[in-house]
Amino acid sequence: MTYRCAVIGNPIAHSKSPDIHAGFARARGIALEYTRILAERDNFADIVKDFFAKGGRGLNITLPFKETAFALAECHTPYAQAAGAANTLWMESGQLWADNTDGRGLIRALTHDHRQTFENKRILLLGAGGAARGALLPLIEASPAHLHIANRSADKAQTLAAPYENAEASGLDALAALPAFDLIINATSAGLNDGKFDLPASLAHPHTFAYDMLYGKDTAFLQWAQSHTLAHADGYTMLVNQARLSFQQWFPA
Ligand code: NDP
Repeated sequence: MTYRCAVIGNPIAHSKSPDIHAGFARARGIALEYTRILAERDNFADIVKDFFAKGGRGLNITLPFKETAFALAECHTPYAQAAGAANTLWMESGQLWADNTDGRGLIRALTHDHRQTFENKRILLLGAGGAARGALLPLIEASPAHLHIANRSADKAQTLAAPYENAEASGLDALAALPAFDLIINATSAGLNDGKFDLPASLAHPHTFAYDMLYGKDTAFLQWAQSHTLAHADGYTMLVNQARLSFQQWFPA
């Protein structure tokens, strides 16, 4: 039997998900047809319903439909709930389920691929958009000593940090006053438009690890890390690991 999965987004032609999932399927000996689907705001819900009505196994959702997918689903994992957004959909007992594997994919990438640990560590999360929201609960669950969220619009960072005892927040302009961090995660989209992104040198110590969620670009953030000779990586490992968690949901071992 050939199973059908797909990723829905707009734009979608660039998506690496079909290649990544083909690799997982090969490794498990599963026959999988995984396609890219281009959707518009007014046909997204119909495409999802039609996909599952015709026996589709699972969907990945990417920009700009993660919030719409969350709203469409009848049941949500705690990670989707915390993010208010979904990147993974499937049917279970006749109900549409939603998960958000981005944050757990980030943690798995940092721990498995980049050998980072969280206990007793000071973590800086830059950004307070969808990607930061998705990362927050898994980051808190990793039990760092301290998590600081900094965003261009400080109020959005403060809203994210408010429920958590070991989290604080500020605008980017307050970063110069803070002690160095062990791990700095860039969850802003500044790199997408080649935006300037200057950070104070005092944020890093010689063993700070810098991770940019964006992948495939030499962003200003990664250049900042290189200029301070910090170990660093881009978001490709997060992409692969969020995909792995989706695949495990659709095809439990
Ligand atoms: P959103 O549009 O939801 O949020 C964008 C964030 O970036 C906001 O916090 C915004 O600040 C900030 N920002 C934008 N431009 C600048 C700038 N020039 N300087 C400083 N801050 C800026 O985007 P997402 O959260 O969905 O995505 C963020 C990044 O994460 C993207 O690069 C995306 O590609 C990547 N990503 C990677 C994934 C992976 O698997 N590797 C998965 C998901 C996302 P403000 O609130 O002030 O506007």
